[in-house]
Amino acid sequence: MGLEEKLPSGILLTTVEKVAGYSRARSVWPATFGLACCAMELMSTGGPRHDLARFGMERAAATPRQADLMVVAGRVSQKMGPVLRQIYDQMPEPKWVISMGVCASSGGMFNNYAVVQGVDHIVPVDIYLPGCPPRPEMLLDAIVKLHDKIENMKLGDNREKEITELEQAHLRRLPLVVGSRPEEPGD
Ligand code: SF4
Repeated sequence: MGLEEKLPSGILLTTVEKVAGYSRARSVWPATFGLACCAMELMSTGGPRHDLARFGMERAAATPRQADLMVVAGRVSQKMGPVLRQIYDQMPEPKWVISMGVCASSGGMFNNYAVVQGVDHIVPVDIYLPGCPPRPEMLLDAIVKLHDKIENMKLGDNREKEITELEQAHLRRLPLVVGSRPEEPGD
């Protein structure tokens, strides 16, 4: 949260948005945060074969205060939940989260009381990455998609407008319950 959040909408804000988005997308610093087997694929993504440095992301921060991306790699135990949230809270704004693998996204095959059934119960998730484990190429694809999202992030008044529009769109959405679908021609 900075000065750009206070800027009124207009040509100036649009220009600031473009510059800030371009710079942010090319300087994302991930926090080192491996929880289980998915972390092996995460580490491999940083190795010479896949070379995360191509995206300006080779600097994995050991302190959350110098990181703006959390890749939740692996299942989250109930005991780890508060720790994960604390690390997230210590990261400066703006920040993003990738949920890597089926366990982090939904608990996966660990459908039991000891494992959090989706890390989005604890922190907001920007990208869900399926697979067990997702290959480094899949993580790179998720990162590229996240970069697009960061680059097109709105600021200030424009962001508030975008949030309101998204909320309205969600409220208009029909529930995904069998039998609730409105009748369509040909039904
Ligand atoms: S998704 Fe598969 S590889 Fe990843 S933490 Fe779960 S069991 Fe391990």
